[in-house]
Amino acid sequence: MIRPVTARVPAKVNVQLAVGGLRPDGFHDLANVFLAVGLYDEVTATPADTLRITVAGSDAHQVPQDHDNLAARAALALAARHGVDPAVHLHIAKDIPVAGGMAGGSADAAGALVACDALWGTGATREELLEICAELGSDVPFSLVGGAALGRGRGELLEPLETGAAFHWVFAVADGGLSTPAVYRECDRLREASGTGATVADIPDPEPSPALLEALRTGDPAALAAAVTNDLQPAALSLRPTLAGTLCAGADAGALASLVSGSGPTCAFLAKDAEAAQAVAAALAASGTCRAVRTASGPAPGATVLTG
Ligand code: ATP
Repeated sequence: MIRPVTARVPAKVNVQLAVGGLRPDGFHDLANVFLAVGLYDEVTATPADTLRITVAGSDAHQVPQDHDNLAARAALALAARHGVDPAVHLHIAKDIPVAGGMAGGSADAAGALVACDALWGTGATREELLEICAELGSDVPFSLVGGAALGRGRGELLEPLETGAAFHWVFAVADGGLSTPAVYRECDRLREASGTGATVADIPDPEPSPALLEALRTGDPAALAAAVTNDLQPAALSLRPTLAGTLCAGADAGALASLVSGSGPTCAFLAKDAEAAQAVAAALAASGTCRAVRTASGPAPGATVLTG
């Protein structure tokens, strides 16, 4: 009997998200510094008669259970390349907030890829897996590799980064998600409205912050806190003004840095150490400004097949 294969995949926080101007193809160039954090989805692949998706977890009802699910698309892409019948049941145990700016769908795609590769014995190379990931979405390659990395282009051209220590985070999960394309559109709209213009001709090329890369390398949370930035934050706040209250609550509770995670609406708070993270988490939970609070540290490993 063929045994099911389970892959564990982390969420991410963007410690820097610098967004360039709108390109003629509708995308934006990014300088995107990803940090994988220890909040995980698990994807289990089991042989079945046909491709089937099931999802468990408190946000499961918000996740498509058909071929629109990024995990299904990943399995289909791998099967097509290797001439394999994609007859697999993918079960997603979802712990990463859905549409929360933490790359949950991307994580499931990366998890499905490595789980199906192991189940089918396709033996895909790392390069091939990364190629499929980049076809599936800008954040999917990072979900595969994990750790910390600088993403250029749309975020899919990855350069691994060194980190000197674990960083401790608190995440405030909001009620309901935000659509990533809608947040980019709002970012363009705000840039137009401010008079700077929103195209590549108007906005300087996005560059990683040397101070931020150095803070990651030395593992200094205070220096990292001073350097974190997210160009999508004004747009996320414009679409969801209540996030300002969440950010304030975390700052009041002693977080070193408070920022919207990626396109939001999850808010991320950097703490000095694990103990401080627990204190910030307790204060945020009591503040009534978010649906749920989670703590996690990063860097965390990328998509990993669990053995045993
Ligand atoms: P990112 O941080 O990469 O911008 P996100 O964390 O904001 O993404 P996701 O959780 O990936 O957002 O979900 C975005 C949308 O993708 C959801 O609204 C959902 O309809 C769709 N989706 C497709 N597959 C999945 C999946 N496996 N898990 C979650 N959402 C999925």
